[in-house]
Amino acid sequence: MQVVLLGPPGVGKGTQGRRLAGDRGWALISTGEMLRDAISRATPLGMEAKKQMDHGLLVPDDVMIGLVRERTLEADALGGFVLDGFPRTVPQADALEAFLQERGRKLSVVVALTAPDEELVRRLSARWECPVCRRVYNAMSAPSKDGRHCDDHPETLLHQRDDDTVQTVKRRLEVYQKQTSPLVDHYRKRGLLKEVTGTGTLDDVHGALVAAVGG
Ligand code: AMP
Repeated sequence: MQVVLLGPPGVGKGTQGRRLAGDRGWALISTGEMLRDAISRATPLGMEAKKQMDHGLLVPDDVMIGLVRERTLEADALGGFVLDGFPRTVPQADALEAFLQERGRKLSVVVALTAPDEELVRRLSARWECPVCRRVYNAMSAPSKDGRHCDDHPETLLHQRDDDTVQTVKRRLEVYQKQTSPLVDHYRKRGLLKEVTGTGTLDDVHGALVAAVGG
């Protein structure tokens, strides 16, 4: 299956996408993670993308489309994938549809995760991440065992993403409203959309997501 997780920053696309993909043996394709990885390796793509990311703005469509087109052709994605963070604009959605069609494939379902803005700001500003495995913790609701290191990598200090500052979070939410939220209607019109509430426990959301994806 080819699944898209849509939703504002902080709604849980990464956490839920990782679990869904792991359960089903699908690839998790997180464009934010791919870009952060490119930044940490100081590649030309990473250096270019960082300028937009640090300001909460989107990386240009052609860059993102090329990246995802290649990634979805890798062996682990051929049996199915979950896209987290792509598409984020209508041109990205059109390109995704076109390149899947070229391969005789199509999207199976698009799940829109929802949560109120206050909850998103609260979550993002308390978000801490393991730089090794990218596991995400929440200082208030889901801290690591000692609050400073990753449970799975006890030597590794958790860090906050550069774009999880209050000002950048606000900009990212505005960018989501303006450039990405039109995709909800776009996919609803195509009969592909399922909506899942992203609040509640991780298990509740996972259960609702599994039900929405079916199969
Ligand atoms: P995320 O981890 O999904 O919140 O993404 C972090 C940042 O990476 C975003 O704020 C954008 O700057 C950039 N980014 C990730 N995915 C995309 C995309 N599909 N299109 C444009 N920019 C993206």
